[in-house]
Amino acid sequence: MLMNILNELKGCRTIAVSGHERPDGDCVGSCMGLAQFLYRAMPDARIDVFLESISDALEEHIAGAEKINHSYQTDIEAYDAFVCLDCEKTRLGASEPIFDRARRTINIDHHVSNPGCGDVNYVVPEASSSCELVFNVLDPEGTGAPFMNEETARNLYIGMVTDTGVFRYSNTGRRTMEIAGYLMTFGFDYPTLVRDIFYEKTIAQQRITARVLLDSALYCEGAVLAGIADKETVAQYGASDSDLDGISSQMVLTRGVECSVFLHELPDGRYKGSLRSNNYVDVARVCESLGGGGHVRAAGFTADGDPQVLLQNIIEAVSAQLAAEKNRK
Ligand code: 5GP
Ligand code: MN
Repeated sequence: MLMNILNELKGCRTIAVSGHERPDGDCVGSCMGLAQFLYRAMPDARIDVFLESISDALEEHIAGAEKINHSYQTDIEAYDAFVCLDCEKTRLGASEPIFDRARRTINIDHHVSNPGCGDVNYVVPEASSSCELVFNVLDPEGTGAPFMNEETARNLYIGMVTDTGVFRYSNTGRRTMEIAGYLMTFGFDYPTLVRDIFYEKTIAQQRITARVLLDSALYCEGAVLAGIADKETVAQYGASDSDLDGISSQMVLTRGVECSVFLHELPDGRYKGSLRSNNYVDVARVCESLGGGGHVRAAGFTADGDPQVLLQNIIEAVSAQLAAEKNRK
């Protein structure tokens, strides 16, 4: 249900804001977009944002990035309110205990797999991004948010750009463009921001992407493209976690491919999977069966086990969907 965030936080003196592990542009943008707004709207309240480390590009462009608490250390035992953004509580990582101790919890998210984990929830799977939803709760009447400024606008724009693939995925709606158009009027340098946040790659990222693509294989008569990177390969290219983002999205842009699968080994030996689809495969459903989740066209999971076996399971689940689509036609 749409809420007015200032009504929900009325009387709160201490507010924690956090999002998922390995935070992306929408996660950081929504947390810091909300925080920038609250600094102005609730100047007497203490607002603490807890997130894991973020990419250099986000560090550079997110307004207030230097205020993020990456250590998760706090002298507050129980916050008056905790706002959980862009995920459900199980994906909060080190801030989950802070969520559990908070007096009141608010969940704002756009992941289909999230049933809503707060005392109050605003979960809209159709929304382009959590940033779009944060904008709605800052300005529920649509009369122009009173505390909106360049910093808030820039942060929310960054998340919308990230999760819509620069306004190109099917989650981009009229409302998305209207909000983005309004945010642009606050005067930030959007061409540089889009280049740096969405298109720029580190050299390690370019090289590991090339390597994964070179070693990738087609399945299901060319409808699925899959690639795997083990720890040694990741280390060989000096690739960090964020250097591995974007590989699956690049793979799904292959002619004839409906679904991409990228598996990479984590330092603890588990595998992180990233799936993307173009038109009809529901990758959220595939990832949920492996303990993960996400969106219909972009989802992920983390699992134990042999990557070849994981891949085999994924291929089976995807080919069942491909067959169902074939029958439907
Ligand atoms: P990525 O492949 O980029 O890690 O994730 C794609 C989408 O799926 C993102 O929206 C991300 O938040 C979501 N996602 C990734 N891994 C998981 C997971 O383990 N559980 C859930 N529920 N969502 C995930
Ligand atoms: Mn998101």
